[in-house]
Amino acid sequence: MGRKGILIVVSGFSGAGKGTLMKELVRAYDHYALSVSMTTRAPRLGETEGKEYFFVTHEAFEEEIRREGLVEYARYCDNYYGTPREYVERQLEKGKDVILEIEIQGALKVKEKFPTALLMFVMPPSAAELKKRLVGRGTESPEVIARRLARAGEEAEGIEQYDFIVINDKLEECVGKMHSLIQAAHDAPGRNKEFIENMRKELEALQ
Ligand code: 5GP
Repeated sequence: MGRKGILIVVSGFSGAGKGTLMKELVRAYDHYALSVSMTTRAPRLGETEGKEYFFVTHEAFEEEIRREGLVEYARYCDNYYGTPREYVERQLEKGKDVILEIEIQGALKVKEKFPTALLMFVMPPSAAELKKRLVGRGTESPEVIARRLARAGEEAEGIEQYDFIVINDKLEECVGKMHSLIQAAHDAPGRNKEFIENMRKELEALQ
């Protein structure tokens, strides 16, 4: 039975390592597709158009909203971020599980529109470890680190709205764990409505 793909939403604190995790997941298994978001924020050093993001102007982004070209979008720190619809729909049709790496407001919008979406929240093993990773990057000032930690505290308030938490301790183990959770999620009754309905009809016909 050819199965359709599902939407997988991944959120997590800044510094939890979700970027690395997603790249590894997509590399290790070939049936995942990673969605590239559209944003109005400026590219950071080393970021390239179409790889990390599609970088667009405010006007272009708002035009995209008007023509309903986005699955969801949110404002985050004065910029727009959104998920382009076409890529997502095409990949789901092909049977790929599509990963959206987005923040919590967007995650909840996706859950509303697509009740079968699977929501995962990536966390470090401890708050101390999160701080250690943020400091270890060596790219942020103590003020920025303090702000990101404060924001992690706010985001932590919404974790119960996710289906699973994933603790990112050892990369390889974590990737394997995410993959098994996603595979298991495919077998939930809510994600197999058509199959179940057909079975019911066939049973009726047999009587
Ligand atoms: P950054 O500017 O650090 O790349 O991303 C800021 C935040 O925006 C991150 O939490 C990231 O997951 C989130 N984000 C990235 N793309 C999207 C998107 O398409 N939609 C939403 N709602 N959030 C996004």
